[in-house]
Amino acid sequence: MAAADRRPWGEHDLKCPYRNKLLQISFCPWAFVVRVIWAGPVSLKMRRSNRRGLMMYRCHLCASTHLRLFSQPDAKSRQVLSLALCRDCSLVQQSSLPDQAELHEYYSRNYRQDYKQSVVPTPYRVHRAGRVALERLNRLLPHLNAHHHTLCDVGAGGGELVYLACQVGLQARGLEPHEGYSEFARKQYDVAVETGGIDGLSPASADVVTLFHVLEHLPDPLQAMAQIHQGLGPGGLLVIEVPNILQWDASPANIYFGAHLFYFNRHTLLALASAHFEPVSVVDEGNLWVVLRRRDHVVAPQWPRASEVNLAIERFDQKGWWSYLTRGQGWRKPWKRLRQRQDEKTAAGLTPQRILDRLGLNRC
Ligand SMILES: [Zn+2]
Repeated sequence: MAAADRRPWGEHDLKCPYRNKLLQISFCPWAFVVRVIWAGPVSLKMRRSNRRGLMMYRCHLCASTHLRLFSQPDAKSRQVLSLALCRDCSLVQQSSLPDQAELHEYYSRNYRQDYKQSVVPTPYRVHRAGRVALERLNRLLPHLNAHHHTLCDVGAGGGELVYLACQVGLQARGLEPHEGYSEFARKQYDVAVETGGIDGLSPASADVVTLFHVLEHLPDPLQAMAQIHQGLGPGGLLVIEVPNILQWDASPANIYFGAHLFYFNRHTLLALASAHFEPVSVVDEGNLWVVLRRRDHVVAPQWPRASEVNLAIERFDQKGWWSYLTRGQGWRKPWKRLRQRQDEKTAAGLTPQRILDRLGLNRC
């Protein structure tokens, strides 16, 4: 990539989130005691993992090495993750990326068990996934025209979106790496969900490709953009939803996951896609939602402007529990979850297909 040459190596800014606090308390007479009790083993582990990251990292998007390295615990396992924020484009990514074979094994067998504690979706998960799929479909349909007939949902999960898309007349299929979930979709809904990943997208085989909470899991999102560009026909649409690293309404305890290799904001997401796609619609409230149109010819990537990067980094630094509870209205979440659980209980004892049919597809 041309951008790889435009910035020098070695401008690392090694910054542990606990470092300033450690320096502050080191002037206090109780420093040693506080350091051992409060910061002790966790901080030391984080700093060790930062050093590892320093040896092996450059920005996936712009190839810069002007990075701020930091560590956070995995929201699920609490293991320390080594991360980096690019000071030149504001992309956040894990500093050490697993290889393809490792990821294939993990997503085909273990991911769902780790994150959903199940090898097939339970009724309440079908209900939840179905409701989300219906919202996504309602949001997507206004962007389709008479030439958009075929849809491929990459990372199709239990097949809820594929099933609902078929119900509204689209020729929908899905690709899902997990064996249990893809088989579940075929058996329960009789839909075309193949066991596999983005490599299963044949050239010019779809008018619309959807990637819902998938891109942040892929080891090479730039390559994924090129693959989808090939997989779409002329005028085809790519619809992406990812967590937004700058969203106020994400609990600080629920942002960083071992399975999330990249953490996007609107500027880094649009820059990532810019060589192959032009933006049609961007919704930047909570999760990021973008609709992109396939370019007829690949162009040079468009990087975020310096002012956008500075603002993004400023907002990233402002994020914390206070902004989550106030700006993000995090205090409302427990009540929302309670209502959601009550709603999901209505799915008990129903077949997956019946659960989806009861969601009110006619509203589409
Ligand atoms: Zn970068």
